[in-house]
Amino acid sequence: NYDYLCKLIVVGDAGVGKSSILSRFADNTFDESYLATIGVDFKISKIERNGITIKLQIWDTAGQERFRTIISNHYRGAQGFIIVYDVTNAQSFENIKVWLDSIDRNANENAKKLLVGNKCDLTSSRVVDQTAVQKFADSLHIPYVEVSAKSSANIEQVFEIMGNEFMSTLPLT
Ligand code: GDP
Ligand code: MG
Repeated sequence: NYDYLCKLIVVGDAGVGKSSILSRFADNTFDESYLATIGVDFKISKIERNGITIKLQIWDTAGQERFRTIISNHYRGAQGFIIVYDVTNAQSFENIKVWLDSIDRNANENAKKLLVGNKCDLTSSRVVDQTAVQKFADSLHIPYVEVSAKSSANIEQVFEIMGNEFMSTLPLT
């Protein structure tokens, strides 16, 4: 039982750590091996704010090109998008623009967005500059957070931010 249902979709290139972020958040586990997600997968979680219970239905998507069309058909019903890139992979950051474009074309215009840079534990392999990304995110008025599914750093914060963004759209009771 819950007061509101919030549907979130996690997008980003294959291998950036979308499934790992969800496993860390929902099950508190991390796996070094790479099990590619096929199509879509779900995680269900709950958050509470001011006595209001929000059920989070989180869609984990596959980054492969052939699944993009299937997934984007579901964008319309989502309240929020978590757009993930890998701080050790410059191409995955470049492709953020492609993901944002796909969201802009298919999603509800009120849908909330959050940009997430994953694998921040890999400090020596980092290739994407934090300040540059922050500027990019600021220019689009999208919040930005750096996380590690491996170390757990800032994982809770991702869902807290999305929860707060969702709450801000609810009618005041
Ligand atoms: P997805 O394709 O976006 O769902 O990516 P996965 O969650 O399957 O992760 C791809 C690979 O990156 C796996 O081998 C994970 O173990 C690894 N990985 C995911 N998150 C992190 C992280 O925060 N740090 C490190 N070092 N590796 C990670
Ligand atoms: Mg996956």
